[in-house]
Amino acid sequence: MLSKEECYIALNDMYDSTLLSKDDCKGNREILAQLIEEHFNKNTLVKCEKCGKEMPYVLVNKFNYSGSDSFLKYSYNRIGGCVSIVADRNWTGYELSEEEILETIVCPHCGKYPFQSKEIHVYDEVEIVMFPKENKNVD
Ligand SMILES: [Zn+2]
Repeated sequence: MLSKEECYIALNDMYDSTLLSKDDCKGNREILAQLIEEHFNKNTLVKCEKCGKEMPYVLVNKFNYSGSDSFLKYSYNRIGGCVSIVADRNWTGYELSEEEILETIVCPHCGKYPFQSKEIHVYDEVEIVMFPKENKNVD
């Protein structure tokens, strides 16, 4: 089993390498993706730092279409030493203060914000749309 560090090194090597053909790259990517998934999902569920239990997911507070809100299950990704969740602007914490944000992401076992550190970074994603020549006539 690859360690986390080995996965990252292998991934970086793969993307940096100009020696790999498209097929090599695709084959390696599938193998690596499988290894990484096994490694992260089966062996390293994140433990809540408040209650000590492993979290298969976290609960995130989201606005419903009606304007009310509810907690929904969100899977998370471990990236290096960080835990990342992909949410959208219906996340109720989007425009809240740092203290209030902590109440919108909670452990499914104890209902508390799962980490001792209150540091949270929120990034807006940018969608990039490109137009390859061969797809120009496809609607
Ligand atoms: Zn907990």
